[in-house]
Amino acid sequence: MAVEFPALPYSSDALEPYISTTTMEFHYGKHHKAYVENLNKLISGTPFADLTLEEIIKETAGEEKYQAIFNNAAQAWNHNFFWNCMSPEGGNAPKGALLKKIEKAFGSYDQFCEEFTNAATSQFGSGWAWLVEDKEGNLSIMKTSNADNPLAHGLKALLTVDVWEHAYYLDYQNRRLDFVRTFLTHLAKF
Ligand code: MN
Repeated sequence: MAVEFPALPYSSDALEPYISTTTMEFHYGKHHKAYVENLNKLISGTPFADLTLEEIIKETAGEEKYQAIFNNAAQAWNHNFFWNCMSPEGGNAPKGALLKKIEKAFGSYDQFCEEFTNAATSQFGSGWAWLVEDKEGNLSIMKTSNADNPLAHGLKALLTVDVWEHAYYLDYQNRRLDFVRTFLTHLAKF
C-alpha cells in the first residue's frame, strides 16, 4: 500500500495573486510530490507500508534510525494539511466555538494573529508555524523545524503556515513577514 499524493483542493492558480501558479507548480508538483515518492520508496517492503501516514509519523518520531522516513512522512502530511489551511475565500477569523477558544487562549483574534506571525517569522531556517490544541482542548502556538510537526508531540494541528523558503521565495523573496501576513489576511482557512 502506497501513501497517496492527494489532489490540491483547488486549481494551481486559485490562490493568485497571493501565491503564484509558478510557486504552486513547484511547491505542490515538485517538492510535495517528491516527499511522497521518497517516502514510498523508503517504506516499500517494510512494515511501515501497511500503516497510515499518521501512524508512520507517530511510529518514527524521535527514532534516529527512521529519521529519513519520519522526515518524508511528516512533510507529506504537513503539505496535505497546509493546502487545506488555505482557500481563495480565506483570510477570515473562525466563527463559533473555535473563535471562543482562540479568544480564551490569546485574548483576541488579532492577538492570535500577532503571536502566530511572530512564531512564523522567528523560526530560524526551514520549518512551520502552527495553531495547536492539546488533549484538554487548550490552544497554543508552536513553531517546528524542518519536518517536525504537532502529531509527533501528541498535539492536534488546527492551522499551519509553511515557512520553508520554497513556500514563498519566488513570490516574496526574503520577505517572509509579508508572506505570513498575506497568508493570514487573504488565504487562511480554519
Ligand atoms: Mn513546503
